[in-house]
Amino acid sequence: MQPGNSYSRVFSVLVSFGLLTLVNAAADRTSEQGEATITGSSSTSSSSIFFPQEFTFSFTHSDPTEECTPYEYAPVTDALNSFPPVWKGASILSSDSAALAMWNSISDSIPTDIAVKVSFYASFISSNYSSSDPDCWWTYDQCITPKLTGLPPDVAAAPEPSTLGYGFDDGPNCSHNAFYDYLDSQNQKATFYFIGSNVAQWPLEAQRALTDGHEICAHTWSHPYMTTVASEDAFAELWYSLQMIKLAVGVTPTCWRPPYGDVDDRIRAIANALGLTTIMWKYDSQDADVDSGNVDGGQVTDADVVSNYNAFIQTAASGTFQTVGAILLSHEIDNFSMTEAISFYPQLKSVFQHIVPVGVSLNKTQPYVETNYSLPTFEQYVAGTLIVNSTTSSSTISSSSSSSTTSQSSTSSISSPSASSKGGQTTASKNAAYKVMDFGYGHVLLLLVTVFFWTSGLLNF
Ligand SMILES: [Zn+2]
Repeated sequence: MQPGNSYSRVFSVLVSFGLLTLVNAAADRTSEQGEATITGSSSTSSSSIFFPQEFTFSFTHSDPTEECTPYEYAPVTDALNSFPPVWKGASILSSDSAALAMWNSISDSIPTDIAVKVSFYASFISSNYSSSDPDCWWTYDQCITPKLTGLPPDVAAAPEPSTLGYGFDDGPNCSHNAFYDYLDSQNQKATFYFIGSNVAQWPLEAQRALTDGHEICAHTWSHPYMTTVASEDAFAELWYSLQMIKLAVGVTPTCWRPPYGDVDDRIRAIANALGLTTIMWKYDSQDADVDSGNVDGGQVTDADVVSNYNAFIQTAASGTFQTVGAILLSHEIDNFSMTEAISFYPQLKSVFQHIVPVGVSLNKTQPYVETNYSLPTFEQYVAGTLIVNSTTSSSTISSSSSSSTTSQSSTSSISSPSASSKGGQTTASKNAAYKVMDFGYGHVLLLLVTVFFWTSGLLNF
């Protein structure tokens, strides 16, 4: 054996290590931080075999090919068999003793004399429904004050004067980095209503919402018309969306928004029993209704959305919200909705004195079941304190730290990332650990293969 061969062998191993390191560095799909940095400048449309047919992603100022390429995030992937199939209507899993116990404990309080709507359109069009609106069915007449005793009214406006309760439905969207970057650049926080199935597929994108200081509410597991869903399954829609957010992000929301606003007192009773405030809206940008391929899709043109935004801005400018603020329905569902949100933000800023997350407008300083994360009060927020953490921001959330039943989960034994804000130690170190594992196994494998070929004489350099 000549010395030169030894040197070149060592050199080749080093080069191999270097190449693998470069590959790793190019696309970190294992951490919120890595995922948040994926952006580009391409403008393309793409759909994915990993999504239902109705999902088409179209993006500008981002890299949809990379951002929307599915990845594995072990804490979620390993627990998927504890959840209903993504994008399928939820039911309580027979093996889920925590969900069954919770349902059994609340089912007596759920009204059985409010009919499950046969189907959204059939119930609506057939006029079987009494004009007195006995169920306080929002879809029928935008009722937000329940007729069933003991239920709080829905939140449909920001209580603070000249204030916009800012929020977006249907996320996390796999290509929301440019939009979240924009919000970050404006020091603007918002409320995000996450669909459980989307969180399951894009957990790191869900984590970014919390990391960036936004508020997270639930938006069901599979986005059904909730009044058409049997009570036990409606419970499952909410339950599993909460459990998935807890698993992926580390917090359990205490607010929710019904898909399509389709809620009545039966569904409100289920949400209320789960500790969830129902957040509605009075104004609708219809930004998700343009492309019928979206979950909220309908027959609306781009121009309609622009005119809806303009009308809303005009309404604000005319002083309508001087006493009580407003909530506008808008989405992070696709490039169009996010682009419109960005383009109208400066005008919204000019007509509202304050733009805040809905929870902040409600002075809801504890937005989650877990007590180690706080929102600022409205006064603190408008004075510039956008994020408030607990004194234990680097501690890992433990489900036992909460007495609320909603924190009980079949998956609660899996440690969740910290709820701390940007730079949260637990999240960072946990993700670093995954990174190190990837790095370690990959390099060890490469080393073994190299040594094998080397000693076999097949690699003769
Ligand atoms: Zn929705």
